[in-house]
Amino acid sequence: MKRIADLDVAGRVVLLRADLNVPLDGEQITDDNRIQATLPTIRELAGRGARVVICAHLGRPKGDGYAARAAGGPSLRPVATRLGELLGQPVAFASDVAGESAAATAAGLADGQVALLQNVRFEPAETSKDDAARAGLAGRLARLATLYVGDGFGALHRKHASVYDVPGLLPHAAGELVLAEIEVLRQLTTDPARPYVVVLGGAKPSDKLAVIGNLLGQADRLIIVGGMSYTFLAAQGYEVGRSLLEKDQIPHVADVLAEAGRRGVEVVLPVDLVAADRFAPDADHRVVPVADFPADRESLDMGPATRELFARKLADARTVFWNGPAGVFEFPAFAAGTRALAEAISKVSGLTVVGGGDSAAAVRQLGFPATAFSHISTGGGASLEYLEGRTLPGLTALEAGG
Ligand code: ADP
Ligand code: MG
Repeated sequence: MKRIADLDVAGRVVLLRADLNVPLDGEQITDDNRIQATLPTIRELAGRGARVVICAHLGRPKGDGYAARAAGGPSLRPVATRLGELLGQPVAFASDVAGESAAATAAGLADGQVALLQNVRFEPAETSKDDAARAGLAGRLARLATLYVGDGFGALHRKHASVYDVPGLLPHAAGELVLAEIEVLRQLTTDPARPYVVVLGGAKPSDKLAVIGNLLGQADRLIIVGGMSYTFLAAQGYEVGRSLLEKDQIPHVADVLAEAGRRGVEVVLPVDLVAADRFAPDADHRVVPVADFPADRESLDMGPATRELFARKLADARTVFWNGPAGVFEFPAFAAGTRALAEAISKVSGLTVVGGGDSAAAVRQLGFPATAFSHISTGGGASLEYLEGRTLPGLTALEAGG
């Protein structure tokens, strides 16, 4: 795979596919981490005299055609503003994706200048399953530039026009963020230092059973936390009341537990839970052992004995991958489990990787500095699919040709 240093970018228009998919509250960016993570690549390109045209998506625009989506938003304009502040130089904004404004904006750039195109998902062809439709958009995007750099790690698992098709049309390289993320994933999957402990949580086991299946061949210990732990507890015959439960997944979870047993992978589940009377920040709650869970309550966090148990099960780890919060951390009253987990992982000496959008948001919201972990991934879906052993279409495209 080529890197930016392998391309002669001075004076050339470079189409940079980045992941700038930040959370918004109206037009307010609530977490600019993904913009920050893209700065090294933009700075390197601009510093070497490239004319940088950035293509990115934001949210999930709704509507059948371009016009409906453009009218409904979200627009990337606030991201252009924030990017300009962080770069310390103005960022031109094209009001369309690959139309007249995009062409004029790209043509108007001087060496070292940066522009951002409008939300690429306003173009229905971006995410189309129809190869010809995607090729049409890819052709229009490719005509804006003479080189392509892929740095949108969070979208690398998508077979989308700007991720998968454009690199086939232009000489291309991988950006700094993609190289860094792939290097960490390679370390996790190639002879990790042992014990290798995987912590999986979040809302639903159905999202994560595929990755668990593949990790059983690699990890030494699997700690199950959060919303998905109740389906695991239910598979072992425990009452979980009104807690999150995917009944239809119980047979699959039972298979995973049996397979873990055959392979000698230790699976660790919660031993006590915080039982709330409803899903609310101010819900009445009390700690109960898993064997005594009240039928009329739901668990929103793990209990203190579980926090201690999991900290012990992490203490000897030399490699940790963590994906998925341990409770409803968005409610301060139910954030203790996620906080304790983050603390235990931050104390591990070895490679510690946090993956997943909500997990990354949780550690930041709880005040952990980025330096508390070896790596906080910008892409949840992409890292999980890599760890599932699947090929990422965007990575395949960057590896091909050049
Ligand atoms: P990530 O984005 O890190 O992959 P997920 O999207 O799988 O994580 O899960 C995150 C969500 O899971 C959070 O919004 C959190 O509130 C929710 N969650 C975690 N534990 C529980 C629980 N015990 N009950 C209900 N929801 C939970
Ligand atoms: Mg999530």
